[in-house]
Amino acid sequence: MDTIIEPFRIKAVEPIRMTTRAERTRLIRDAHYNLFALHADDVLIDLLTDSGTSAMSAAQWSGMMRGDESYAGSPSYHRFEAAVQELMPFEHVIPTHQGRAAERILMGIVAGPDAIIPNNTHFDTTRANVESTGAEAVDLVIEEGLDPAAQHPFKGNMDLDRLDALLDEQGDRVPLVMLTITNNSGGGQPVSMANVRGAHTICARHGVPLFIDACRFAENAYFIKQREPGYADTPVADIVRELFAHADGMTMSAKKDGLANIGGWLALNDDAWAEEARNQLILTEGFPTYGGLAGRDLEAIAVGLTEIVDEDYLEYRIASTRYLGRALIDMDVPIVQPVGGHAVYIDAKAMLPHIPPLDYPGQALAVALYVAGGIRGCEIGSVMFGQQADGSEQPAQMELVRLAIPRRVYTQSHVDYVIECIAAVNADKASLSGFAITEAPDQLRHFTAHFAPLGESAFA
Ligand SMILES: *Cc1c(COP(=O)(O)O)cnc(C)c1O
Repeated sequence: MDTIIEPFRIKAVEPIRMTTRAERTRLIRDAHYNLFALHADDVLIDLLTDSGTSAMSAAQWSGMMRGDESYAGSPSYHRFEAAVQELMPFEHVIPTHQGRAAERILMGIVAGPDAIIPNNTHFDTTRANVESTGAEAVDLVIEEGLDPAAQHPFKGNMDLDRLDALLDEQGDRVPLVMLTITNNSGGGQPVSMANVRGAHTICARHGVPLFIDACRFAENAYFIKQREPGYADTPVADIVRELFAHADGMTMSAKKDGLANIGGWLALNDDAWAEEARNQLILTEGFPTYGGLAGRDLEAIAVGLTEIVDEDYLEYRIASTRYLGRALIDMDVPIVQPVGGHAVYIDAKAMLPHIPPLDYPGQALAVALYVAGGIRGCEIGSVMFGQQADGSEQPAQMELVRLAIPRRVYTQSHVDYVIECIAAVNADKASLSGFAITEAPDQLRHFTAHFAPLGESAFA
């Protein structure tokens, strides 16, 4: 059969509160046109993020009842550790409350004012944790990774020649190299096994460890199975093991491919770094066998890790993201191609060429999608990245609206509804106008900025 079904039935449901267009017009105005300021129950289809929004399985919920809340040595920790090491055979597994806590602890140990940390593309919290130590975060993704329209099966790949050159010239300043799979900031694009292997070889030659930012490791492994010669018949779990065999450590947000609502970890082989990390962990996260998590959270992650490498799940997951992307391509809505794992990114600059970048075409589109159908996406463009340290403003490289797909949450008819709403906005796109920022903090303004429309719009 050609129809790919959701490989699950639904046992518990969460009602969606329906709203009218008139209500949404008022609600978004009251939120100063900032989608982060909306109450989530005023949103019909919430595609703000795939982070921490997964639906847990019956097995995960029953695992939560088994959660042991002992302060030290909880059996839940040992089940969590075993589940991690089953896929990622690192010596030390250190739980944290989120991925960024693992990043902060790691960078606190290895980075500092003279350090350089290369990555394919730093995720924003990773970059912030590198830079907050005074170190420099350098992005070395291949050129195709910066072009929304370029077709390449592994647009998340690191440019290995530039990595090699950087390590040749300034290797003594590089305490470790990171590789983000899939490349979130680059559109959820995968990294090939050959690229991970190549990066590891170069790192090993320079005596520099390679760490994987592994948030969407299972989606990445599934892309390798689909796209990289030689892996079509390899079980995803084996691809995952091979990926991590090429690394010296990892950071992880269990809110993504851990299928959990909270959690993360740092895993590594180096004994001395691990000891320092555990000392840091105790300061801000907790004792090394819980690290800021409840025992029940550790159980949810342990079960989630067995479910995330299930190939029926991954086939459905990647197919449902592709389904949304294909529908948009078919109606000539410009998107980042090929479609990545966890999200579809609409290219608002190409869709709304009449709105200049600093009138925020991504914000205009995101607001229109909310007014049209109660859909909440996320602007990733000049609102998020335009603010410079000196207070000036520069257009971002791309003006995108990200529609991130929560795992196991929405059905195909929800996605069909999203497609219909985008079609309605697309049909009237010439009527959209830009926005001005009327109030903003000095940093990370996208979370709290206030906006005002710059003109009339059919969707404001
Ligand atoms: C989400 C994410 C992080 C940070 O994880 P949190 O759990 O949100 O702190 C780091 N890197 C990537 C690639 C991510 O997607």
